Amino acid sequence: MRSEDHIRLGESHSAHNYHPLPVVVRSAEGAWVTDVEGRRYLDCLAGYSSLNFGHGNPVVLAAAREQLDRLTLTSRAFFHDRFAGFVTGLAELCGKDMVLPMNTGAEAVETAIKVARKWGYEVKGVAPGQANIVVMEDNFHGRTTTIVGFSTDPDARGGFGPFAPGFRIVKYGSAEAVREAIDENTVAVLLEPIQGEAGVLVPPDGYLAAVREICDDANVLFMADEIQSGLGRTGETFACDHEGVVPDLYVLGKALGGGVVPVSAVVANEDVLGVIRPGQHGSTFGGNPLACAVGDAVVGLLRTGEYQARARDLGAFLHERLADLGPGVVAVRGRGLWAGVDIDPSLGTGREISEALMRRGVLVKDTHGSTIRLAPPLVVSRDDLAWATDRLSAVLREA
Ligand code: PLP
Repeated sequence: MRSEDHIRLGESHSAHNYHPLPVVVRSAEGAWVTDVEGRRYLDCLAGYSSLNFGHGNPVVLAAAREQLDRLTLTSRAFFHDRFAGFVTGLAELCGKDMVLPMNTGAEAVETAIKVARKWGYEVKGVAPGQANIVVMEDNFHGRTTTIVGFSTDPDARGGFGPFAPGFRIVKYGSAEAVREAIDENTVAVLLEPIQGEAGVLVPPDGYLAAVREICDDANVLFMADEIQSGLGRTGETFACDHEGVVPDLYVLGKALGGGVVPVSAVVANEDVLGVIRPGQHGSTFGGNPLACAVGDAVVGLLRTGEYQARARDLGAFLHERLADLGPGVVAVRGRGLWAGVDIDPSLGTGREISEALMRRGVLVKDTHGSTIRLAPPLVVSRDDLAWATDRLSAVLREA
């Protein structure tokens, strides 16, 4: 079938909860994908940072293939021989005691919320039913009803209420706002160390460290949603590392599954995760053998530091190139191999720019108005990045 047929049939028989670019990908390797007509594109989205280690990473694929032939699912009713290695390795990578494995990012965020509330009642001594969690304006933590209930995006929440109570929304980037929102019933602060979906918003220097201090003073858990920012993307293992900040809970997903299977996790110390006991939380697929094999391979890749270094070096190059794009670009934000680029709205919407880039062989995704996001796999080459930014320059000149 040709691209148009795939798109027409797919759109006729699926919910329109996405508005994909009109490209039908058939295969991929490294940082490049190929469509059904054989056209090649540089993937500058990387599955919203799920493909940090590249399409078809040989180490990840070998782990998955070996596991596929042996054992894929037991449920957590039994132990299996891939579990211990994965949770031990991931806990060590995070400098924490324990891992609670789930599948999708939203599930891991839900897990963190449940853990924080339970910790609040059992450890902090919050009165039953009174726990609150401080969250940020313009957050993106997933699509469950609880999570969209504290979103400030009208599209994300509109028509999906009623919502769970117990969240206080404050301005992102203001430590003072966090301090003011905390009261004796606050159990946690939940934030993205860099807000991805909001347009790769990097908070002011010192913000994460200040929030850490406020949480310590108030006996409140700091929960960092590193689902998009973590696992090498910013040039460190975690975006919190840039400020030397260690959260109480890491919330991880996306790249943890190596672009092969959904793998997410909450990672914390025993005094926090220990509040969850048998029967109180779980997932049929969470921590399954295939997920653990892939996750273990990902932890191994991160242990070398090679991908973090690539994101650092190539990220500096990417940001240099983006800074040189000229008047068509209003602002560039980001860290490592991750950039939000605000295009002059008179040149077109983010969607129009993304479509023009697609026609020139570069895949990016727009977010909010005239912003485009770049997050190529960390295996991308310097030449690829130079080529992609040349394409963006040409698109802006012709817009
Ligand atoms: N948290 C952050 C920061 C995200 O960027 C995302 C997805 O984009 C999620 C949570 C939700 O992850 P998932 O789509 O796997 O549920």
